[in-house]
Amino acid sequence: MINVAIDGPAGAGKSTISKGAAKELGFIYVDTGALYRTIALSAVRNGIIDDKDAVIKMLESIDVKLGFENGTQCVYLNGEEVSAYIRTPEISMGASKVSAIPKVREFLLDLQRDIAKNNNVIMDGRDIGTVIIPDADVKIYVTASDEVVLPKAECKIFLTASAECRAQRRYKELIEKGENVKYEDVLSDVNERDYNDSHREIAPLKPSEESVIADTSELTLDESIALIVKIIKEHM
Ligand code: C5P
Repeated sequence: MINVAIDGPAGAGKSTISKGAAKELGFIYVDTGALYRTIALSAVRNGIIDDKDAVIKMLESIDVKLGFENGTQCVYLNGEEVSAYIRTPEISMGASKVSAIPKVREFLLDLQRDIAKNNNVIMDGRDIGTVIIPDADVKIYVTASDEVVLPKAECKIFLTASAECRAQRRYKELIEKGENVKYEDVLSDVNERDYNDSHREIAPLKPSEESVIADTSELTLDESIALIVKIIKEHM
């Protein structure tokens, strides 16, 4: 099986590029953020999002599964398809909170590893190359221009996107979905989530030593996808 790990901060363009590349290669695209979002949804529904111990207890009685229909990922919470409910700002922030709880990460570990073991995947998240599939065939780290962390690497994938630019994209996405949000709130959420994700003790967002970094700042979306497909093919 070919495993491609792609990590980076929220809104840097990982999912759009990963989806495009997966389609071209005939791989499954796995969005691992959806798993943390589903746990957050369950915690919000139970009114316990700020109570770590209650979230840990909740793990004993919930069932989270990923499914793939026509190449599109669906996520199930106790058998209910919840993909439509996990993209709100409240759940984004909730996901960032629950993802810092070690027991939550442990709970989702095997599920992610099993998918990678049994399929050709492009898996996107924060700790895919560092923790979930450390022996991935290709590791790509997508970074933002205001966060200069360049690992040692021979070739580079560098997605330029400032926090403002990433917040603008998220804002547009949410407005198009009919959500009632303010740009300033989306921006402060992006900043807060980036901070939480890169400063937590367990599995923080950071490039793995062998991450491949490529400069796509001058490239269009299609060119970025083509570049990633090329890098993956070179490693196959
Ligand atoms: O990628 P997405 O924005 O959907 O992820 C939501 C949240 O889930 C992130 O802010 C992060 O806290 C968490 N996450 C994580 N590890 C992953 C994927 C997501 O901690 N592999």
